[in-house]
Amino acid sequence: MNDMMLPRRRLLQGMGLGSVAVLAGGCGSTDPGAQDGKGPHYVMLFDQTKCVGCGRCKEACNQANNLPEGVSRLTLERQSDRVAGAVCPTCGKTECNCDRKYVRVSCQQCQKAPCVMVCPTGAAHRDAKTGIVTMDADKCAGCKYCIAACPYQARFINQDTQVADNCDFCLHSKLAKGELPACVSQCKFKALVFGDANDPDSYVSKLLSVKNTSRIKPHLGTEPSLHYLAITKPEV
Ligand code: SF4
Ligand code: SF4
Ligand code: SF4
Repeated sequence: MNDMMLPRRRLLQGMGLGSVAVLAGGCGSTDPGAQDGKGPHYVMLFDQTKCVGCGRCKEACNQANNLPEGVSRLTLERQSDRVAGAVCPTCGKTECNCDRKYVRVSCQQCQKAPCVMVCPTGAAHRDAKTGIVTMDADKCAGCKYCIAACPYQARFINQDTQVADNCDFCLHSKLAKGELPACVSQCKFKALVFGDANDPDSYVSKLLSVKNTSRIKPHLGTEPSLHYLAITKPEV
């Protein structure tokens, strides 16, 4: 795996990555980091070459995590390399779906998580057993510091509970029952792979060791746990 940025710019630009100022300062605490190599490090790989944008992952997530209308822990951004109105080199039309591709937008499960660092109450925290960034709803004051601090714009307020929320790999709704994250299990096209990167025998470890994947804005030092396998066009 690597963290090449330039060839992946189209893939990664969908994350609204403008706000990084909070990362460097204003932290209420430090983040102990996911794991020190002794425990698991859960990661997810989004394979853009397989994703068809069906949205089943998002529906499954909303259902599994009882999210209200209008919010989601996961979105899919449609991207195209073509200039609007330009003729498609594949089909010759100006309006088509030939080059459509999608990017998963969700919490990056940073190993150095700004949301955890700035949360004054400890509501945004790292699960001790799994290292996953999650929420203690009872502690959340609704201050939105974590939302402002997230450089990936991946957090939101659940308007039903008035508690901040993020993708936590379905820690409570699925992993606690020994099940895969809902999005992973419901993707019929195998575009999502989840597992322990610290387990050299896991499928995700094997994939990461041989595929040319990217992470979003690794230069921020957040050490995201989401990896992206981008569509690349063949040389002509
Ligand atoms: S379910 Fe799979 S193929 Fe469908 S949008 Fe989600 S990641 Fe893509
Ligand atoms: S992507 Fe945002 S919400 Fe997720 S761990 Fe990183 S800072 Fe926190
Ligand atoms: S891992 Fe769970 S919480 Fe995260 S996007 Fe997938 S279904 Fe939603």
